[in-house]
Amino acid sequence: MNGWTGVILRVNLTTGEIKKEPTNLQNAKLFIGARGLASKMLCDEIDPKIDPLSPANKLIFAPGPLSGTMSPSTGRFDVVCKAPLTNLIAASSSGGSFGPELKFAGYDMVIIEGAAKKPVYLWINDDVVEIRDASSVWGKNVPDTTDELRAVTDEDAKLACIGPAGEKKVLFASIMNEMNRAAGRSGTGAVMGSKMLKAIVVVGTKAITVADPEAFEKAVMVARKKISEHPVGGTGLRVYGTDVLTNILNSVGSLPTRNFHDGYFANADKFGGETLTAKYLIRPRGCFSCIISCGRATKVTNPKYAGEGEGPEYESAWGFGSDCNIDDMDAITKANYICNELGLDTITMATTIACAMDLYESGYITTKDTGGLAIQFGNAETMVKLVEMTGNREGFGDQLAEGSFRLATRYGHVEFSMTTKMQEMPAYDPRGVQGIGLNFATSNCGAAHVRGYTISPEVLGVPFKVDQHDTKGKPELVITFQNLTAALDSTGACLFTTFGIGAEELAALLSSVTGIQYSVDDFMKAGDRIWNLERLFDLKSAITSKDDCLPERMMKEPIKTGPSKGDVSHVDKMMPEYYQLRGWDTKGIPTPEKLKDLSLA
Ligand code: SF4
Repeated sequence: MNGWTGVILRVNLTTGEIKKEPTNLQNAKLFIGARGLASKMLCDEIDPKIDPLSPANKLIFAPGPLSGTMSPSTGRFDVVCKAPLTNLIAASSSGGSFGPELKFAGYDMVIIEGAAKKPVYLWINDDVVEIRDASSVWGKNVPDTTDELRAVTDEDAKLACIGPAGEKKVLFASIMNEMNRAAGRSGTGAVMGSKMLKAIVVVGTKAITVADPEAFEKAVMVARKKISEHPVGGTGLRVYGTDVLTNILNSVGSLPTRNFHDGYFANADKFGGETLTAKYLIRPRGCFSCIISCGRATKVTNPKYAGEGEGPEYESAWGFGSDCNIDDMDAITKANYICNELGLDTITMATTIACAMDLYESGYITTKDTGGLAIQFGNAETMVKLVEMTGNREGFGDQLAEGSFRLATRYGHVEFSMTTKMQEMPAYDPRGVQGIGLNFATSNCGAAHVRGYTISPEVLGVPFKVDQHDTKGKPELVITFQNLTAALDSTGACLFTTFGIGAEELAALLSSVTGIQYSVDDFMKAGDRIWNLERLFDLKSAITSKDDCLPERMMKEPIKTGPSKGDVSHVDKMMPEYYQLRGWDTKGIPTPEKLKDLSLA
């Protein structure tokens, strides 16, 4: 096999059994790799009704066929499992070098089954695989765990691990790799903690073979040129990081503010990418083979919040910023560092605090509930403290550790939770940008911008500009972006490559690496297939068409100020057309004809 290594590593932590098995080529052709192929394995192997934190759940680490090659920005891998935050399928993407290193060690994916009785880590040194005792690092944060496990294995090892948040099964705990890269969303870290698996440490030395080196080199050159010459990928993200989006989203009135009570924040510039670059940036950082390098190594010198780390990304700066009504970039950056150290998803962490602030200001939570903490909007000091408490499940942090849906439900006001399918919405106001709202409402993992980033055409004008306030044509646009992203994720490429290249260039890269000819239609159909596979899992697990919705506030409470003043979401009006174009019935269930066409029946 070319691109794929042809080997899957399966580790059962209950029995201690370690097995290697061949990658199914037919499935690899249909589902590509990473998110797609791992989701196929999960759907074939687990009952969608299981408790996500039980040993019956499986945790799959999967790079794609482009991972580890010189194809630009292909350092991504996915962590796939049933998610504890949502009870849906999770395919949480991370960057860095961990995914390529798994390929260099010879594996298309690692499937973790069962649960250990005591803390362990998995040591993969090419063909040699061992389950080792991790009691010395259990309880330690991500940087300390990384340093200590590298010291006893290999200083250059690549390492994915959980922090205390994952150990304590915080429902939105992340899996961190290379210290600052995160498979952040949906609680994959809690699943890893439930298995008592502290880390996977890997060193690989094998080459990845390419089917047609000449065609591959040509496809790489084309992709590199288009990405590096594009103003978003080649300049905006490279110079300012993803936080360049703060001022852009605010300028179009779609920067959610105070738990989505508003879509505009007057002081947004204080935590935007321009400020981050001028006052905090040490140097840009990139994942394996990346030509964009959107990562930010940063430093805070203010003694109150002093520290060094990576970020914040746009979504993290927004969450701890305007969504909590905070403009103190020192505090925002510190909160982000703590999330990385404890292993927490910054989006759900920040928005759960915003929800708690909203409940507090409305009188539904009092200091009796919070252990004496006054948690008003704008209280930066308390916000930072709450992050630490949540990662360690201390005091009121134990309630925040369940996410905003369960928190708001506990206090009798679920409408304060800004979630779809129990996962918190990220940094784009669906009232001001209609297509992204439809994407949030239909996303298979709960609200997520990285499932179909229609912000590209709706706000950035890439690859063409559409009216952000209009609903016309949005169902088709959303479906195209969702399918493209599902296929792209499955190759191991970064979403940001789509600021420059599309299905045509990705199909050319994939074809030349694997030797299997993917047309643009084949590539997009693979995305459609993956989307429907995930949908089937979710329907069997937890949801009905009633869950394809946005929080009530998005339809009933117009944006109060700024350029999108007066806007509400019209997601309900777009849904019938979305179902019809997807080939689903009126209940949102894929029809038998659709499933047959996608080779899913
Ligand atoms: S663009 Fe950013 S996230 Fe994507 S591969 Fe490059 S550094 Fe990683």
